[in-house]
Amino acid sequence: MFDSLKKKLQNIRTKFASNIEEAATVQPAVEQPAPPPTVEPAPPPVITPAPPLPGEPLAPPAAREEKREDPTFFNRLKVLVREREVLLQEKDIEEPLMELEMVLLENDVALPVTDEIIARMKKDLVGRHRKIGTSVDDLVVATLRSALCGVLGDGLDLRDYIREHERPVKILFTGVNGTGKTTTVAKVGHYLQKNGFTVVIGAGDTFRAGAIEQIRTHADRLDIKVIQHQTGADPSAVLFDAVQYAKAHEIDVVLADTAGRFHNRANLMNQLEKIRRVMKPDLVVYVDEAVAGNDAVIRAGEFNRAVGTDAVVLTKADMDSKGGAAISVAHTVGKPILFLGTGQGYDDIMPFTPRIVVDELLGGEA
Ligand code: GDP
Repeated sequence: MFDSLKKKLQNIRTKFASNIEEAATVQPAVEQPAPPPTVEPAPPPVITPAPPLPGEPLAPPAAREEKREDPTFFNRLKVLVREREVLLQEKDIEEPLMELEMVLLENDVALPVTDEIIARMKKDLVGRHRKIGTSVDDLVVATLRSALCGVLGDGLDLRDYIREHERPVKILFTGVNGTGKTTTVAKVGHYLQKNGFTVVIGAGDTFRAGAIEQIRTHADRLDIKVIQHQTGADPSAVLFDAVQYAKAHEIDVVLADTAGRFHNRANLMNQLEKIRRVMKPDLVVYVDEAVAGNDAVIRAGEFNRAVGTDAVVLTKADMDSKGGAAISVAHTVGKPILFLGTGQGYDDIMPFTPRIVVDELLGGEA
């Protein structure tokens, strides 16, 4: 998952680290107290360099330039700068920041999200006294981690949501055909069953030939009850029946599959409006595929504006080497990601937690 981005972020980390180390190395060690005011006339300029102060690790600038060619001295200096604080300026990290920006855009991270990540990195690093500690890379990873977490939002734990709401909790799944919507309904059903909830599926995609059969096959394999009508039937009626069934049998969750597309957009919106009125879903979930990158983010935004959505599922994250949609969608649409689809099996679904995605991108806890 997200291999291309992961690799590039690794390179960027190294660049940031070396720039920060370089900046720390050439910086004056500490701010020197201002000399006491004197009434004496200023002495003539001193030409010879002053001897080092006791306890002062750095040589004066001119001598430092010479000494930096000595690798042993440079290494010793690196250790010393790590032990103190560094005050970074924008120019010190301008180059890796620009590279990070390029990498994020190349990997389909939306422009406003890229800008936000860069702004957070800058704010965190520039103009503040930062203690480098034992590793410059740790400092860089912590900063990147916090910038990425800042745009990923909080996610939404479906188990908590169900526990906190009146049963049956009704979840409506919608999105473009072929993105994995039907498989996602089945996966979520399986996930909820594994977590101790009872589930019924409403086969509300009555528009597409074969759709009812498809969800039925998944549900039979997973031993989940399906409420269905004929192809062409009114989806609102099917989903109303599914809710009635859940109430009568004290089922915890109704998962409603719906058609991703009708004859035209107005038709889709009318149908969804009617389903909303009749079924009164607690959550409307928009499903799209991570591999679609920026297109998925744009579609999710349009869908949210047109119909309203509460959460997003991104399928096929296992096939997505870029990660742009997963990073961008919550910040762009303003709605949390509920799950990532990570394969074709029923267990291949991952509750979206920003920490796990950032760990995946940056390679474990910093
Ligand atoms: P729908 O038309 O949107 O309902 O899409 P389907 O559920 O029929 O899925 C379309 C194809 O995508 C099927 O071959 C699924 O197995 C596959 N698919 C769904 N989710 C994932 C996923 O997370 N990863 C991968 N690799 N394939 C998936």
